Amino acid sequence: MKQQDFWTWADKEAEKSATSRGGGRLFLSELPTDLGLSLPEIQKLHEALQERLGNVDLVLTDNRRRMVSAKHRRKRFRLRVHHMFVGCSDAVVDALANLASGKNQEDDGSRQRLKDYIANHRDSISYDVDPEKLEAQGEHHDLQAMLDKWRAEMKLEVLQDVVITWGRYGKGSRTIRFGSYDFDRKLIRMHPALDQSWVPDFFVEFIVYHELLHALFPPKKKSSRRIVHPPEFREMEEMFPRYEEAMIWERRNLSRFLES
Ligand SMILES: [Zn+2]
Repeated sequence: MKQQDFWTWADKEAEKSATSRGGGRLFLSELPTDLGLSLPEIQKLHEALQERLGNVDLVLTDNRRRMVSAKHRRKRFRLRVHHMFVGCSDAVVDALANLASGKNQEDDGSRQRLKDYIANHRDSISYDVDPEKLEAQGEHHDLQAMLDKWRAEMKLEVLQDVVITWGRYGKGSRTIRFGSYDFDRKLIRMHPALDQSWVPDFFVEFIVYHELLHALFPPKKKSSRRIVHPPEFREMEEMFPRYEEAMIWERRNLSRFLES
């Protein structure tokens, strides 16, 4: 699989560059797998920022609402930057660095330069899902059938263009996230570890149902805290016909996912 290869490779390279240069780290895990970004270009941006700012932890994002944000803590910058900045000119890197360091924000036109850059690149970034890249039919579980069933059941307009796919295998981890919902793409991604014969259909279906509820109840902000599962979400989640059974099954089998 091409996508997985990219990620394995990207993660390894990112770790290497972080340790060999003794500088900041590069975080790519928030990016969808199918962007086709070039790692050398990503590293070039990271290095250019470090030349200007010293140690920079760079998080590349796919967030369409917040394009740039920066924090400075203990001689270290943490920049969250939209991936549209990969491949940008030196002048734009200067503007990013000026903004991060808080230098001459108003006077030197950095802010305006970034605004212009964003305005010029926003349209070229597509949040459309390429149907060719969706893979809903697993070896053991058919995600499309589950999604269609619940959509028919709920009959809600907002759910009609939600799409679903099996996700990629991430790096070894002590936690597992069975599913996620991408608001910008209206896309449910399911963890491929669920596609095994010993994982019962009703459990996979429960996760699909849970992710579908995210489309219904977007996260709420409550005094700077983000509430991802508000009470009305939980209430509806419990209405899943085999909810109790799903909870018990998860508790009993979670370790099996982490071992494999
Ligand atoms: Zn959730």
